[in-house]
Amino acid sequence: MLSKRRRADRKTWRNWGRTAASRPSERRQATDVEQVAAIIADASRRGLRVKAVGSGHSFTDIACTDDIQLDVGGIDRFEAVDQRSKVVTVGAGIEIHRLSLELAERGLALPNLGDIDRQTVAGAIATATHGTGQAYGNLSTGVVGMELVTGTGEVIWCDPSTEADLWRPARVGLGALGVVTKVALQCLDAFRLRAVEEPGELDDILAAWAEFTSSADHVEFFWLPGQDRCLVKRNHRTSDPARPASAVRRFVDDEILENALFDVVMRINRRFPVTRATLARLFAGAVTASEETDDSHRIFSTVRRVRFSEAEFAIPVEDVPEAVDRIRTLIETLDPAPLFPIEVRVSATDDIALSTAEGRDTGWIAVHQYRGMPYEEYFRGVQAIVDDYGARPHWGKLHFHDAGSLRGRYPKWNEFMDARIRLDPTGTFANPHLDRVIGPVVRSS
Ligand SMILES: Cc1cc2nc3c(=O)[nH]c(=O)nc-3n(C[C@H](O)[C@H](O)[C@H](O)COP(=O)(O)OP(=O)(O)OC[C@H]3O[C@@H](n4cnc5c(N)ncnc54)[C@H](O)[C@@H]3O)c2cc1C
Repeated sequence: MLSKRRRADRKTWRNWGRTAASRPSERRQATDVEQVAAIIADASRRGLRVKAVGSGHSFTDIACTDDIQLDVGGIDRFEAVDQRSKVVTVGAGIEIHRLSLELAERGLALPNLGDIDRQTVAGAIATATHGTGQAYGNLSTGVVGMELVTGTGEVIWCDPSTEADLWRPARVGLGALGVVTKVALQCLDAFRLRAVEEPGELDDILAAWAEFTSSADHVEFFWLPGQDRCLVKRNHRTSDPARPASAVRRFVDDEILENALFDVVMRINRRFPVTRATLARLFAGAVTASEETDDSHRIFSTVRRVRFSEAEFAIPVEDVPEAVDRIRTLIETLDPAPLFPIEVRVSATDDIALSTAEGRDTGWIAVHQYRGMPYEEYFRGVQAIVDDYGARPHWGKLHFHDAGSLRGRYPKWNEFMDARIRLDPTGTFANPHLDRVIGPVVRSS
């Protein structure tokens, strides 16, 4: 029988998107690396598994566990700032929005960010979180060193010249290689972005795809399924003075249009699917042009209060137009068809074993469904299309693959598995999700 404390611990944990849940038998928190090492060594002796959790912003059950959930959000200090090399070492549990503010105070910034900044650094790099920009890699590409605690409780530092065989794959570790406690990040001098948003037509973007991807440092578009209309976003790096949107405009855009009103529209569509075409036209009409210039971290990330489920696939960048066109055809056959915008981004190639952009310049296609709405038929249909282009699913987003179908898509798969057997020989960091997507801990040869 479970003791009172164990029963109390067994509260349900849920992720942000409400698409994954688990009931850990113990919830532990650590504020330094020694505590992490002690918790892992103790768990390993008791034959329990440990799962580090960040901000719970992954859509899959990658952060779920029935055993020990370990929150390292308390390991969030600035350890070192080298103003000459612009390398900053931070506690891995720090959330990106806090990191960005701390960096700004020191005249520095991260080179690129995703749509939101609520993730922890450790969680973001574990799943190869990315933004957009054909010359910019995902967040893991900025990791120049890291401290992690192995499955036996040993503390290891790795970087390009120390334990390089571990550092190479560990930059996208899926939470399978150790609990990351410290990360050294290559930063840049703080910079501003001129953000230009405007309506665009899907056919025009796809017909001139190469020109589109090089039309700004950071480009993306949101396509309203069932409509030709898109919202095109281009962020240009600039040394121009800041000209931020007014507080009123920001409130209307960020809180009303992108969140409160968006939520109402999505609720109506969920309750009355027949309204979809009308609502889609309403959306299309609401896409207007705007421009502002501000510090990079204020432009890159937005506030997302409307909860949704999401799948996102990485394919060779040149295949994006054909894949999107085929998804358009798929959407015409879905009943009800989705209303939630589809997001398309790009990112640069890298050399990290399980990075979704390893070895190829990448185009990203992300599909969403409002919370509480069925997504499986839609996401499966999209996955079947992008599979024809060797798609790699985002490690933190929904998909229907397993190790058998993913192994062949990652040329450096075995490099990761060799690191895994060394760092976690008995599977302390395994969970059912990892068992499915990368398999159990086994020697590659
Ligand atoms: C609204 C929203 C917007 C998003 N936008 C983007 C986007 O623009 N681009 C993009 O690429 N992704 C995006 N994502 C996905 C998100 O960035 C990733 O899923 C990311 O992993 C979430 O980080 P987290 O801190 O919440 O980690 P969690 O989801 O809590 O955990 C993710 C993984 O990290 C591991 N982990 C956490 N801490 C540690 C640690 N200390 N050591 C080792 N492993 C650890 C966990 O075990 C798990 O395997 C978005 C998600 C949401 C909900």
